[in-house]
Amino acid sequence: MARILLLYTGGTLGMQLSATGYVPSADFAERLDAALSVYPADLLPDYELQTLQPLIDSADLTPASWNQLIATLADVWTTYDGYVILHGTDTMAYTASALSFLLGALDKPVVLTGAQIPMGEPRSDALNNVILAMQAAGHPRAPCEVCIAFHDRLLRGNRARKCRTQGMDAFDSPNFPWLGEAGIHLQFSDIPTLSVGSPDLSPATFEAGHIGVMHCHPGMSPRQVVHQLDEPELRGLVLLTYGVGNPPGLAGQLLTSLRQATERGVAVLNVSQCGQGTVQQSTYVTGARLTDIGVIAGQDITLEAAIAKLAVLLARGQHGQALRDALSHPLRGEMRALAVDSE
Ligand code: ASP
Repeated sequence: MARILLLYTGGTLGMQLSATGYVPSADFAERLDAALSVYPADLLPDYELQTLQPLIDSADLTPASWNQLIATLADVWTTYDGYVILHGTDTMAYTASALSFLLGALDKPVVLTGAQIPMGEPRSDALNNVILAMQAAGHPRAPCEVCIAFHDRLLRGNRARKCRTQGMDAFDSPNFPWLGEAGIHLQFSDIPTLSVGSPDLSPATFEAGHIGVMHCHPGMSPRQVVHQLDEPELRGLVLLTYGVGNPPGLAGQLLTSLRQATERGVAVLNVSQCGQGTVQQSTYVTGARLTDIGVIAGQDITLEAAIAKLAVLLARGQHGQALRDALSHPLRGEMRALAVDSE
């Protein structure tokens, strides 16, 4: 029988209604034990639950929480066969992505899950999601990578997004097939597995304010561009462009400011605003100019994974060409391999 550890961090899954709205509840462990005790012991992996303090609404998450998770995993990595992280849904895709880059190759599954409706409320999805995550984390065929288990789907963590605010099928991976699906049985897909190895369980040095996101939109002004790109603390920028990776012209100001930024070492990653598909910077003249000035095509990476990848690489001390190389290639299956046009 597999032995797994559940790490409870907060989120709707374990929340209860207070006079001022939903807040994380401290007695979740007892309530979960009671809810799971109705099942015969041999149908679920053996589990223990550890509560991380402070319990948070994941909207309040900072990279310090990623280091807290890494430190907790470091203490117990050799003890259990798999790990489940109970997490708020709002930033779960960021945490799954960040952990995938922080940990690197894994020899055990790490499965995040949460819920749209708190445990104990009518139609709650909490228990089903937790049970799916537990079965995946304790399964001998589970992929040794960071996954999200939600609404009968097992998703690659750094490919996943919270796509729906209300639907119970809140998570999907629009640019990547599901790793598994639970019908009567949990079935794993035949997707080639990622490299297996001992994880890097060392903390990373995150600095607030080093990463920016520039969301291109009709009506943005050259002044706004200069203001954001001239920020001296900026080390990495996700440029959210139209379609296959096209930025607006802005009378040349965007390209000028981007060139100045890349020349002083800011890594700029081009990610499409479209939820599905990939960046191809050479399709239009506007995009091709980005390649010329050193903007890196983010291929089909999600915004969440792009931010997390930049954050982790910078926090691990990467810079210059090594940083650019790491951003140009998939590290943990987060994007498709480099397209010819973006070389
Ligand atoms: N705000 C909550 C959180 O992310 C939402 C949820 O868990 O579904 O913690």
